[in-house]
Amino acid sequence: MSLSRRDFLKLATVAAGGTAISVPIFKSVMAMGKKPETVASNIPTFCEICFWNCGEIARVENGKVVKLEGNPTDPSSRGKLCARGNAGMGSLYDPDRLKHPMLNVGKRGEPKWKKVSWDEALGFIAEKMTKIKATYGPEAVALISHGTGGSFWKYLLKAYGSQNSTAPSFAQCRGPRDIGYTLTFGAGPGSPEQIDLANSKFIVLIGAHLGENAHNSQVQDFVEGIARGAKLVVVDPRFSTAAGKATWWLPIKPGTDIALLLAWINIIVQEKLYDKEYINKYAIGLKELKEEVKTYTPEWASKETEIPADIIVETVREMSRYKPSVVVHPGRHTAWYGDDTQRSRAMAILTALMGSWGREGGYYFPTKVAGIPEYPNLPSPPEPQRLKLSGDWPYAVEATTTSLRKTTITGKPYPVKGWIAYDCHILKTLPNQKETIEAIKNLDLMVVVDVLPYAHIDWADVILPECTYLERYDDLKVGKGKVLSVTIRQPVVQPMYESKPSWWMVRELGIKLGLEAYFPYKDIEEYLKARLDAKSIRFEELKEKGTITFPDTANPFITSGNEPEFDTDSGKIELYSKALKEQGFDPVPKYKRPEMPPEGYFRLLYGRSPLHTFSRTVNNQWLWELYKENELWINAKRAKALGFKNGEYVVLINQDGARSNRIKLKATERIREDCVYMVHGFGHNSKETKKAYKKGADDQSLITRYAIDPLMGGTGMRVNFVKIIKEA
Ligand code: SF4
Repeated sequence: MSLSRRDFLKLATVAAGGTAISVPIFKSVMAMGKKPETVASNIPTFCEICFWNCGEIARVENGKVVKLEGNPTDPSSRGKLCARGNAGMGSLYDPDRLKHPMLNVGKRGEPKWKKVSWDEALGFIAEKMTKIKATYGPEAVALISHGTGGSFWKYLLKAYGSQNSTAPSFAQCRGPRDIGYTLTFGAGPGSPEQIDLANSKFIVLIGAHLGENAHNSQVQDFVEGIARGAKLVVVDPRFSTAAGKATWWLPIKPGTDIALLLAWINIIVQEKLYDKEYINKYAIGLKELKEEVKTYTPEWASKETEIPADIIVETVREMSRYKPSVVVHPGRHTAWYGDDTQRSRAMAILTALMGSWGREGGYYFPTKVAGIPEYPNLPSPPEPQRLKLSGDWPYAVEATTTSLRKTTITGKPYPVKGWIAYDCHILKTLPNQKETIEAIKNLDLMVVVDVLPYAHIDWADVILPECTYLERYDDLKVGKGKVLSVTIRQPVVQPMYESKPSWWMVRELGIKLGLEAYFPYKDIEEYLKARLDAKSIRFEELKEKGTITFPDTANPFITSGNEPEFDTDSGKIELYSKALKEQGFDPVPKYKRPEMPPEGYFRLLYGRSPLHTFSRTVNNQWLWELYKENELWINAKRAKALGFKNGEYVVLINQDGARSNRIKLKATERIREDCVYMVHGFGHNSKETKKAYKKGADDQSLITRYAIDPLMGGTGMRVNFVKIIKEA
């Protein structure tokens, strides 16, 4: 079944009021009275507007990028870009970009910027890092990164002696689900998720708003699955874009998802609706699971979730009719209430009972074709002397942003004195902005590497302006889906202003730190060539094609000759986890009723727009024109009862007294009465980002509370309540 570009964009833009995507195109500058002579080229690269990293082709005319299109050979884009990817030139030609390295000669938070040379900026950082290492040890410098160039910074920190490289993608996003699935199957659901949506017959979305979260190839697969007739259950307090396509919309009471999941699991085991052969062969713990969930009846769950008991029964019986071609989507941003690993475990158990892991229309196994070796003959980094900052959480497999922040404040278990924030708006990413600022105040060095001057730069000592993804090389993108794909990022135009790519900054800084042995290549091209040579890929060929794929002859699904392996303690799917039990955690998820909003307050929910990536695209001219400010969704009946009108501006105050910027009210039937919702990433307070300045409200400024996941240290952020007041 073919999916037209129109179908794809339709689903991915409905949330913006059905806005048609029409990206203005830069015109070549024409000499007066002369026939223009256009020098044009099509250069493949990959997108960085979000982290799906779609392969794309840039049309360059007379030195200007005039159009971006999907690269048909790249599995992430398949020849199509989402609205944001189409608008990538808006980032390249943003007049507010950071243009020069700068030193803060004022105070942190009240900066006075002095333009300096690259040599001076990197020299300043090297001197501070050397002092920190001598005084506190190398682990006292940490990285917080969120973007492709972050791999170079991580490498530098390792060479320097620190393994404290963190990313919000773990504690604030995917970590809980990756751990929950790994505890069950011995492997996470992957990123991109290894879900066979296009062939699925029954899709369950629990708080995942596909389409509004516009991960390109996944939305294409979702549209295809729906077009082929897949039934869809959407569990969401809000009637999302996806809910508009659903067979069942279950407007669940926020925070009660585990109750629904346990009731579904109970019905499945009681009525023997599970895939018996699959469970007998591949799973352990069915008997214990049955015992643990027996009290979670549909009637009980109905009281908790406010979903009628008969609908709970009907949906799960229908689900089981389509097994194993069932996708229970694992979600993406899963840090909600602090019990998120256990919620993900419940979703993984449901997936297992449907026999969907390793089955067509369910989950596929990623290709086993070997990827690309690292650059050859690099020296080994020094042995870590002290533990990485993963807190006291047994399943924090990496240093977490929140333990880094806490350690920076307390100095325990050891002092942290330097942060490098790469492409990560730390104030808009981490909960509780006051804590982040308190931590920064304890530092001897704060470096920000970024493209745009969003408000977090005010807290830096040094700013390093990175060039955009259209102006630079980065490391290879190696995709492991059903096939192996290798995609190159290369400059399609030369860097503007004095901006530089991360590979260059890191190499220069490394040399200043006396770490030249770790950078034996003269430039990135030499580095990439060496990596590609090891896989017999010609650098020039990859530059020309953008993506090269390696088909896999192995079946991505379980067959008689292709038995699965489960990297758990038992070597089986663990419906009941002895490992969790031994560590004092629930071996089967249990439901604990979350705190409900006090009288007069609403639970604050937040999510994505298909037209923006977090806070980072709000200043992009074309995306800004399509969606300038976020709105506060509120149930129309509640709005009326409170005396608010659709479209009026209001202000939010949370349970701790934190106050938002003004935000436009959207009174709608599409949301429950006990919660409000806004798109994340707006409400910028930096005057330097002129289009984004004061547009909409910042959800993160209202997220002063967070609930820590005791298994892996994730920060549940849907535990804040707000009341609405009139704009003064
Ligand atoms: S999904 Fe859209 S924004 Fe993200 S990488 Fe692909 S084209 Fe770019």
